[in-house]
Amino acid sequence: MKKMGPYPPYYEASDAKLMIAGRSVESIIEEAGSTPLFIYSRDILSKKMAELRDAMPNILDIHYAMKANSYKPVLEYMRTIVDGFDLASGGELDLAIEAGVDPDKMSFAGPGKRDAELEKAIKAGVTLNVESPTEADRMIAIAASLGIKAKAALRVNPSFDLKGSGMKMGGGAKQFGMDEDLITPTAKKIIESGNIWRGFHIYAGSQSLNTKAIIETQSKTFEVAARLANEIGIAPETINLGGGFGIPYFPKETPIDINIIGAAMEEILSNLPPILKETNFCIELGRYLVGEAGIYVTSIVDRKISHGETFLIVDGGLHHQLAASGNFGTVIRRNYPMALAHDFEKSGYKEDKCEVVTVVGCLCTPLDMLGDKVLLPETYIGDAIILFCAGAYGASASPVNFLGHGQAIEILI
Ligand SMILES: *Cc1c(COP(=O)(O)O)cnc(C)c1O
Repeated sequence: MKKMGPYPPYYEASDAKLMIAGRSVESIIEEAGSTPLFIYSRDILSKKMAELRDAMPNILDIHYAMKANSYKPVLEYMRTIVDGFDLASGGELDLAIEAGVDPDKMSFAGPGKRDAELEKAIKAGVTLNVESPTEADRMIAIAASLGIKAKAALRVNPSFDLKGSGMKMGGGAKQFGMDEDLITPTAKKIIESGNIWRGFHIYAGSQSLNTKAIIETQSKTFEVAARLANEIGIAPETINLGGGFGIPYFPKETPIDINIIGAAMEEILSNLPPILKETNFCIELGRYLVGEAGIYVTSIVDRKISHGETFLIVDGGLHHQLAASGNFGTVIRRNYPMALAHDFEKSGYKEDKCEVVTVVGCLCTPLDMLGDKVLLPETYIGDAIILFCAGAYGASASPVNFLGHGQAIEILI
């Protein structure tokens, strides 16, 4: 038997049935018509956001990094509860506009913005987080040819990374942003060109569960921003401090303490150096805002025994939920939290009523494993199996065309 990750705190059982936002998952499956199915909850999204607002300084803006989940109804809802959107492609820009997000509240990062994307963003009035001196040159030229002032911030590749992060996006040689020594000359060029100078975007990493490391990174981020602002000699209007707040996916992982992070942030914000006194600050989060608000629901198609091991084969798989199969940025495969829709125990299943099963998807590849030797109550063909932590990097980050089974249904309740 191998353990699974902890259940997110927002889910209850009623009559042993798994409930999400006061409704049984089974009734939502019925409403959706079939599985595989992603269910996202407005209720959990707003709880998560409320907890965060409570913990963070009032003046800190909270942005949503939409690559975590770009399902239109989710974007439309997030628009009403966050202060800005961070996007990373021209396609995401289109989706955000369709979802009614104000382009003035959007910033656009990404290491390889094409001319057509720069043009679209400049026309729409989106802030560009410029990632290289040559990208700055292209932006300046495109803005001049359009006769529109571009809004530009520079993405800094900080000399530090976010300790304990699942994906490091700063520190050392990176394709993201530009090294600190390139910032001042590039900023001056942008300012002299007459475009609109916004400030900095500093992103050191993702998925950290180390509260102390997040605080240290934030504090270093403020230092770098202050030093660069002084070098440039102009107060930045906005500084995006990054984020990297993680959520627990695997056994033994525990949540970060946002109250401690918020208090540390408050302390820094109340002692800002003169050059940053008028600056607006934001953090940008993806999975922390949406990850726990979604579940992935599959149904058992087959049950078989091979060499003494029981396999449950479900109608979904890595083509919808790549991360749960262990093939999206993890080194060692571990089990996401899982449960049965009709039989959920918040505190975990008791061994005496359970069997050890391996849950696999329906793709014809051994990579398609969703639960390795997990403990679940006895199941039958047709039973619904739930994977938690599916609100981020599920549908938006999985190879849906692989093997041609088609998309999952998505629903926001
Ligand atoms: C991916 C990404 C995010 C969101 O990361 P999460 O781990 O989902 O919070 C934020 N900012 C940038 C620049 C990113 O590339």
